[in-house]
Amino acid sequence: GVVTRFAPSPTGFLHIGGARTALFNWLYARHTGGKYLLRIEDTDRARSTEPAIAAIFDGLDWLGLMGDEPATFQFARSDRHAEVAHALLGAGHAYRCYLTQEELAARREQAQAERRPFRIESEWRDAAPNSWPADQPYVVRIKAPREGETTIDDLVQGSITVANVELDDFILLRSDGTPTYMLAVVVDDHDMGVTHVIRGDDHINNAFRQLLIIRGMHAVEGGWPDPAYGHVPLIHGADGAKLSKRHGALGVDAYRDEMGILPEALFNYLLRLGWGHGDDEIISRDQAVEWFDIGHVGKGAARFDLAKLQSLNGHYLREADDARLADLVAPRITGAVDLELLTRAMPVLKVRAKDLNELAAGAAFLFTTRPLAIEDKAAALLTDDARALLGAIAERITGLRDWTLDVLEAALKAMAEERGLGLGKLAQPLRAALTGQTTSPGIFDVLVLLGRDESLARIGAQVL
Ligand code: GLU
Repeated sequence: GVVTRFAPSPTGFLHIGGARTALFNWLYARHTGGKYLLRIEDTDRARSTEPAIAAIFDGLDWLGLMGDEPATFQFARSDRHAEVAHALLGAGHAYRCYLTQEELAARREQAQAERRPFRIESEWRDAAPNSWPADQPYVVRIKAPREGETTIDDLVQGSITVANVELDDFILLRSDGTPTYMLAVVVDDHDMGVTHVIRGDDHINNAFRQLLIIRGMHAVEGGWPDPAYGHVPLIHGADGAKLSKRHGALGVDAYRDEMGILPEALFNYLLRLGWGHGDDEIISRDQAVEWFDIGHVGKGAARFDLAKLQSLNGHYLREADDARLADLVAPRITGAVDLELLTRAMPVLKVRAKDLNELAAGAAFLFTTRPLAIEDKAAALLTDDARALLGAIAERITGLRDWTLDVLEAALKAMAEERGLGLGKLAQPLRAALTGQTTSPGIFDVLVLLGRDESLARIGAQVL
């Protein structure tokens, strides 16, 4: 069956490009009934940190993209990587290279002076093993073929061919015996049984080098199959430039914590970024699993569009369960929050919000304590006439038998009519008094949510 993997390097947060790579791997595995694995590529010891690992798991967990098995940690497998390098060495597919840094630098310089491309041409490539010095430092290099070409039928990019002379004798083991990234990836993919390598197209050049290792191992351990490759275009900003912080290339945690995006919205958004199913914008997790095909991921760079993400988020907010939203919004509101009231308010709050912060801002009036802070724009509405009107409104509604939407609406409409005023003339100062703002849910909803006592107290505070 199909086995995919997401293999982040824990040197920073989980950025959205990485999240999308994880998503495509997860989807392809689910679509094919296969397995989806995680590998933490923590071989860069100086830059790999525990908080970065935690942030990656946290972001994946939030998006529902954790692996089907506990993650593999690459650094812990160094001995196995070295073992494979030695197997290649033993089979003559790799060699010990004793060229020093200084020798290599001199050759590089000379090539530059002669304006020709530099290529490793180590005299150790064909040296007999019995001529290898025993007590000098060396690196292990792959013996890349000098003839022929290598073709990859990439699932996304199509067929790509590279002349083998372009593939240099890259290093497998450093002089301290530690494996390189190029080696570790291949060994881990093989040992994890990975059949489909789906990753960013910045790795496409590595794929040809990695195939050399795989094909070298065909001969040694027997039957190291070539994986299928799918190199997914990177995400660009709306202006077409490579995605940077300026475009909103933030960690997944920032979308969740700072921007108040729901995971199902980011999931849907990342899915649509470079992949489509007709004109469908809203695609559920189940539909995505059913429809996703790696072969239909676009070749061109996908453009990140924040407005689109926000509009999808607004859609998912309106779909979301009110109690769940109340739990998510409560920590974004200052002061004591009545979760039951917040849940009850959600249906009228969420119709206008695009993210959890807007929901929190919209809900804040429910939980502010008196005296209410009044925004300048709202204060401007509270003229003497308006305050007199508020007094009349208070008198009118104090004695209402029922404090319900219908009853309040009927009472205020009747009052507006009697006075020959539009309902807005009543609603505006009322909104200012009740919420301290000029925008809010419908005024009758506000009255019902605040309740009789609180509403009358807030109105009373503005009456002269
Ligand atoms: N660790 C690599 C990265 O974060 C990915 C390697 C791979 O997918 O083969 O870019």
